[in-house]
Amino acid sequence: IQRIAVLTSGGDAPGMNAALRAVVLAADHYNIEVIAFRHGYQGLLDNEHVVLEPKDVLHVLQYSGTIIKSARCKLFKEDAAAITAAQNLDALSIDALIVIGGDGSLRGADHLANHWSGQVIGMPGTIDNDLYGTDTTIGYATAVNIAMDALDKIRDTADAMDRVFIVEVMGRYAGFIGLRSAMAAGAERMILPELQKDKPLTVSALVKHIHRVKEIRGEGSYVMVLSEHQWPGGAVALAEQLDAEYDLPCRPCLLGHIQRGGPPAPADRILASELGVHAVELILRGAHRVMAGMRANQCVEVPLNESWEKKNPLTENLLRIQHEIFNPVKKKQRNK
Ligand code: ADP
Repeated sequence: IQRIAVLTSGGDAPGMNAALRAVVLAADHYNIEVIAFRHGYQGLLDNEHVVLEPKDVLHVLQYSGTIIKSARCKLFKEDAAAITAAQNLDALSIDALIVIGGDGSLRGADHLANHWSGQVIGMPGTIDNDLYGTDTTIGYATAVNIAMDALDKIRDTADAMDRVFIVEVMGRYAGFIGLRSAMAAGAERMILPELQKDKPLTVSALVKHIHRVKEIRGEGSYVMVLSEHQWPGGAVALAEQLDAEYDLPCRPCLLGHIQRGGPPAPADRILASELGVHAVELILRGAHRVMAGMRANQCVEVPLNESWEKKNPLTENLLRIQHEIFNPVKKKQRNK
């Protein structure tokens, strides 16, 4: 192995820079050259590449975003695009490619592997934590921190005014950010994809819950965490509905892309560092078409396709605690 390439693709995630740094430092340690393609798969098609040396990644791990840029590239789904990409990689004598991104990006990596003979390694870079084969993804811890921080701030004002708030968080089609931030900030209610799938919450049930909680507590706030895509029109529409149809004043708050910025949490910097080195060492061991992951503090590898075909479930116990134990409405009868 003499030369490898790396790119970041899809939605950016805090810790991507730490991952890049780790790849470059590990490659340097093993005397391997690193070429970065800028702007994800688009850059791979346009041959937009730069050499990355340790000096280029010296002090980047404390920043979110990605210094080599990320992008979406619809065209890459086509066979012709993967063939062009393979030709570009071969023309630069690249032995292996590391793709840092979410499920779409890892699908893209697998697609490329159908048309290229070099080694293809994925790294889980997404705030959504929706990839199988790793306990957590790079960026997830930071997103949860930011959501928790926002929920805490909302709580201050909500409590002062005895208000109902709906805070909409990211997560794509998974409730990981929603569940963990709700637990960390003591939210009264969660609307998560996994819960909505089994038993969709109705507005009337929600209104009943809000009234019951207010009744039990006498006064105070009610803060709800809503995962994106789980209510038609999102937090704004739900708040309007509660206000207009049920005479329940309610304020929406959309966190949006704030969840992807600021200093990455230590857990993300460290996970990214470990997985970046792991990805390079996987290449040295001849691995191909796998994602570098971390399970129970052990570096693991999973077939690329499993990373999106299989699903990590939400932690059952956290769900139970939030939903049953911490739910003032669901009190158990005392044993006689
Ligand atoms: P993320 O990686 O964050 O999930 P996207 O789903 O937008 O982000 O995917 C990022 C990019 O990966 C897409 O713009 C496209 O270039 C590539 N990609 C996604 N799905 C596929 C696929 N099925 N085949 C090939 N490339 C894909």
